[in-house]
Amino acid sequence: MDTTVGAALRTPRRPVNLATARVPRGRVLVIPARCKACNYCIEFCPQEVLVASREGNAKGYHYPEVAEGKDGECVHCQFCSLVCPEMAIFTEPVETTPARTG
Ligand code: SF4
Ligand code: SF4
Repeated sequence: MDTTVGAALRTPRRPVNLATARVPRGRVLVIPARCKACNYCIEFCPQEVLVASREGNAKGYHYPEVAEGKDGECVHCQFCSLVCPEMAIFTEPVETTPARTG
């Protein structure tokens, strides 16, 4: 396989087809009992989807939840899962429709 820069430059690039492109979406799943309220997931979410809950878990830690008005904003990048030291937050993909129809 040709892995040279020249090969990369010869690769045809095409504009995104908005009729078929889909914006990924995710559903946020939190396991409150595992959360230690480090807030990494909240601070590093690129979509600012998460906030600390008002209620605490059994140890008094305020676990993350989806912020008001942010339902449907998660892009399933899974960064929150990656940075969580307690494996307390996950996302699962949600079916989406193309970014533009017609
Ligand atoms: S998957 Fe990405 S966009 Fe969704 S809540 Fe986690 S960090 Fe935010
Ligand atoms: S990164 Fe994990 S432990 Fe830290 S606040 Fe988020 S869910 Fe809780």
